[in-house]
Amino acid sequence: MTPTKKREIDLSDFPPGTVTEYTTLVCLACIFDIFTRQLGLAPRTAFSEVKVHTPTIAELTSRGAQRPYFDSDEKHPHCPYCGSAKRWLARFDTYCIEGGRITDAPRRALIKKLPKAGAQFLIIEKKSDSRAVFFEWLDTLGLNLDFNDQNWLLEATRNYLERREPKTNWEETFDEVRAVRRSSRLAEGWERDGARLFLAPGLYCEALLTQYLVSRSHAHGGLTLEGRLTLMDLIRRLRYNGYLDQIGLTEREPGEVFEKLIDHLASTHDWSRATADSSSDRSKAANKSTKKAAKKAIKKSNKSRKGKTVSPEPEMTLTEPVKLHYIVDRRDFLEKAKSVYASYAP
Ligand SMILES: [Zn+2]
Repeated sequence: MTPTKKREIDLSDFPPGTVTEYTTLVCLACIFDIFTRQLGLAPRTAFSEVKVHTPTIAELTSRGAQRPYFDSDEKHPHCPYCGSAKRWLARFDTYCIEGGRITDAPRRALIKKLPKAGAQFLIIEKKSDSRAVFFEWLDTLGLNLDFNDQNWLLEATRNYLERREPKTNWEETFDEVRAVRRSSRLAEGWERDGARLFLAPGLYCEALLTQYLVSRSHAHGGLTLEGRLTLMDLIRRLRYNGYLDQIGLTEREPGEVFEKLIDHLASTHDWSRATADSSSDRSKAANKSTKKAAKKAIKKSNKSRKGKTVSPEPEMTLTEPVKLHYIVDRRDFLEKAKSVYASYAP
């Protein structure tokens, strides 16, 4: 009996919300079956093929895995395709690190520490953009929230704030918070008053938007701190709270407004270009808020005119390129492949 080795990789240097973890199980019986039966390879050849096998990023991170991959939350999972039990199943852990100013140093340090021998880890880079990354983040958030628990609204808010302002200790800030409210006093940032957390209108609106987006596939409309809202309700509220003006959004058509809101939200976080000058303000503000340089940057680019424009207005391009860095942990896979091979060709 081999004791379970401690093999988590240490991600504590990364701000919350910058790393997404995926676990995919792969059935070695199915892989060997494919190689030996379908492709007619001898076990030895099959083994060397399996050893160098690397799933694609899509296979490692998709929510609907296909043979020989599958997802399972069970303690003792079985292969859904052939019924094989534990010793045939290997695990790939994949970590997707959002590239950028704030993750570059910890990422390099982490990669340096990983064992190099035998392709135990693979590092794969992929180009993406802020919008795709944001939707992936929302998707992951949705999977981790319990929508039957009233607290999910607070959880979603905290997660959003962690993503937006990773340098604030939101865990601590949310400690014993029972309610999140819109502040009528603050122009930016947040403050605690007993069990209530007050957010400046802009932040509050972004929290509403996040809640709406994360819950809309679970509920008709979306659920927010202000109850169940249709898209129209939501936009009305954001307009009323001055958020649309604040970010310089002049469109009237709800569909367009919504698209731009998403692009804005997706590219609004501290390590994005737009907020590059915000970090210096922060350290002083121990208990209160930070700057939102993003707004200004966006306003500048968005003084579009309404009316009889002949050529289409230049798009407010807020979608930014983002580089994703995937780290694939192949250790479990390599070990299991070895032991399975041993049983094929003792
Ligand atoms: Zn199988």
